[in-house]
Amino acid sequence: MHNLQILLQAFGVILLADFLAGVFHWLEDAYGTEGTPVFGALMIRPNIIHHHYPRHFTKLSWWQSSWDLLLIGMLIIGGAAWAGGLTWHVWLFTVIAVNANQVHKWSHQTRAENGLLVSFFQDIHLLQSPRQHALHHTDPKNTYYCPVTNLLNPFLEFIGFWSNMEAAIEALTGATHRADSSNRGEGPAPLWVTAIKRTPAAKVDNLGPKIPCESELEGLPPSRS
Ligand SMILES: [Zn+2]
Ligand SMILES: [Zn+2]
Repeated sequence: MHNLQILLQAFGVILLADFLAGVFHWLEDAYGTEGTPVFGALMIRPNIIHHHYPRHFTKLSWWQSSWDLLLIGMLIIGGAAWAGGLTWHVWLFTVIAVNANQVHKWSHQTRAENGLLVSFFQDIHLLQSPRQHALHHTDPKNTYYCPVTNLLNPFLEFIGFWSNMEAAIEALTGATHRADSSNRGEGPAPLWVTAIKRTPAAKVDNLGPKIPCESELEGLPPSRS
């Protein structure tokens, strides 16, 4: 019974990490703008790039994709230790949350790229399957936000969680889901996104987390997408 309790608690922690990763993903996709100070360049631009070129971030290292989550994870661990509540639940939550983008990356890679172990966990839906994640990348890209498992998304879609949250936010503040230039009819793409498309593959590999700003790209022809 004790073992069953531990298993159920671990399962709950995994779902909580998946849910919160989904909430952050939704906030970035729905309300984050590239002009937001600091967060715009660090977190929103990579999201915009990902919707335009889903395989782009598979070229990036773990560090390049996850440094911001690692920073948040260290704050969680430090905060829990300071409060005297650093349990295995906090460690498990943090490990999953810090690796949420890596799990997301796996759902954009092939089985050959992922290897047997990751593919196995995707097959049993403990890690999100590429097939389910593809639903998020289907226009208008406003569903299936949770990136870690296959377990929460169908339930959240069934109860209309994200659309109900957006309706509540609109009623309270007037803010609506922002336009997504990767969706048909919502473009054109920003100039800096087009520049990445024009960047040869070898250069993209060397681009790292730095994304050129408009002033660095002056003179490039506007997007035709
Ligand atoms: Zn997204
Ligand atoms: Zn994705």
